[in-house]
Amino acid sequence: MKNFLGSSIKDLENVALEYGQAAFRGRQIYNWIYNYRNKNKNIDQIEVLPLDFRKKLKDNGFKVSELIVKERNLANDGTLKLLLSTEDNESIECVGIPTEKRLTACLSSQVGCPMDCKFCATGKEGLKRSLKASEILDQILFIEHEMNRKVTNIVFMGMGEPLLNIDDILLSIRSINNDFQISQRKITVSTVAAPK
Ligand code: SF4
Repeated sequence: MKNFLGSSIKDLENVALEYGQAAFRGRQIYNWIYNYRNKNKNIDQIEVLPLDFRKKLKDNGFKVSELIVKERNLANDGTLKLLLSTEDNESIECVGIPTEKRLTACLSSQVGCPMDCKFCATGKEGLKRSLKASEILDQILFIEHEMNRKVTNIVFMGMGEPLLNIDDILLSIRSINNDFQISQRKITVSTVAAPK
């Protein structure tokens, strides 16, 4: 299974060329996957692509999302908490915190967490696994879609210790910066400093 989220324009142009398509088809995929208004997140819905190209992508295991919303909780102040289910049936949380000018997305980096901080319920569960960059990025799109506006700020303060998933955190930060167009100054990685 290959998830397109986290891919750059160049990556997707190369995918299009590999399948005998013009490079602009890759740019069409790029524009589609990072647009939160595209609600039904599967390759069939990228209607600008020829049918046979969509079929080949699906047959070869490409995806644009692996998460499903299980629960939504909207607080009086507009803060939205989403419980999302992964393909292997694990649960992760993300939160959208709105103000007039900002929408901050609080993202999870792992399913559970091994750090066991005394004040934290997530730590009691232990670590199930780390999230892939595509699963981290998909949390942003779900928040944007549910709240119908672009995320402006990112905080890695949800489930997990980001430094224990550093490769996928760095991949996702590259994409947040380049593909979601969120400045690095608006991305905060909160850590309790993972042991070496
Ligand atoms: S590092 Fe964060 S998620 Fe993990 S146990 Fe501590 S507070 Fe909870």
